[in-house]
Order: sequence, then structure tokens, then C-alpha cells
Amino acid sequence: MSVYTHETRQQVFQQLDKVKLAFAARDWFPGTSGNLSIKISSSPLLLAVTASGKDKTICTPHDYLVVDENSKPYETTSLKPSAETQIHTAIYRNIPETGAVFHVHTIPNNIISELYGDQGYVTLHNQELIKGLGIWEEGAEIRIPIVENYADISRLAEEVERALYPRVPGVLIRNHGIYAWGGSDFEAKRHLEAFEFLFAYHLQWLQVRHLAGSLAGQQAIQNTHSLTYHATGRQ
Ligand SMILES: [Zn+2]
Repeated sequence: MSVYTHETRQQVFQQLDKVKLAFAARDWFPGTSGNLSIKISSSPLLLAVTASGKDKTICTPHDYLVVDENSKPYETTSLKPSAETQIHTAIYRNIPETGAVFHVHTIPNNIISELYGDQGYVTLHNQELIKGLGIWEEGAEIRIPIVENYADISRLAEEVERALYPRVPGVLIRNHGIYAWGGSDFEAKRHLEAFEFLFAYHLQWLQVRHLAGSLAGQQAIQNTHSLTYHATGRQ
């Protein structure tokens, strides 16, 4: 017998629709990538999750299904859960207060994960939007884990599980994307938006710093030429 009502199921699917369309408007689901889930019940663990291979820029009656703690469909359906559903269930199992898990592939999160992939984490600090992750300390510093992008999803789920660090509600997968979660769909969305802002800011800051360094270098060269010019008395 089902542990939830038809109304609950429809309500959770509608919540997923809203998040999906908001993220789709930002181009966060290129090539049908990405996946979303919202927890329906903790015991037994049941999630509503995006079906595999669907265009997430539109809504149809066949976009989601309910899966159990083994990432298997809980109801009879022709839909397949997203290939990476095991990562969702690993997060829900290990951080029981999790109410929603969202995964997107973006250029900023991919570049950050590659740039810092060898050290296995990226550190960010002194940013107002760290508060968006629920971390309110003055001058807070956060360390976001980065795991390698194993093709074997079970292994990838194990690596994500090993990297989980509840204070920071996100894990990057190298050259792949981010998983972010929260106590509710509202909170998970806020966390994901904060992460994406922090990544985009960090990349732009690196570019500007590099550019400023190049300009300072050019200026120094020009000053040296000017000094040489005057010292030799050439006109
Ligand atoms: Zn993915």
C-alpha cells in the first residue's frame, strides 16, 4: 500500500515543475542533463525524481517518478529514473534532514571543478552569499569537495558519499556538475543559486586579476623603456 496520497504526489511533482522551469530559464539543463529530487517520505525513504532523458525546458505528465531507497521505481511505470539517482539516495541516507537535492551542469561549476580538481576541493571566503548557504560567521571560509567523475555511477555515488560534509551543502563532480541539497526545495534552490553565484564571481575575479596583472606588467615595461630612453638621451 502506498505511504502517500495522490494529492501529496501531485503536489511534489508541481514543486519539481517550478524548480525545473526556473533552472531551465537559466540554461542549467543543457542536453537534457541535470536531475532533481524532492523527498516524499523518510521512512521508508521515497523520492520524486526527474525521469531520464526528458527535455527539462517543458512540463509533461511524464516527467517524474517515485523511487525507493534503492533508487528503483516504487510504482509501476514505463519511466526510468535519472541515471544518477543513486547519488540522490546516498545524500538523503547520509544527511537525514535533507528534503531536496538538485544537480545541474553549468560552465562555471565545470571550470571551477577542473581548476581545483587536483587538490580535491575549492576554498571560497569573504563573500556575502556564503550566508545563502546558511553559514553566518564573520569572514566565513568554505571548502567545497570535488570528486572525480567516475563513469560507474555506483562508484561515483560512493565517492560523493565519502566527500559529504554537512556544513557545506554541496559537492562538485569534476568536469561534470554540482549536487546541492537543503532541508526543503526552497532551501536547496537557495543553496544552488548561492554556489553558482560564488563560482561565477570567482572565475570573473580570476580573469580581472589576471588582466590587471597584465596591464601592470605592460605599464612597468613602458616605464622601463621610458627610463632607458631618458637615460640614453635619445629623442
Ligand atoms: Zn550529471
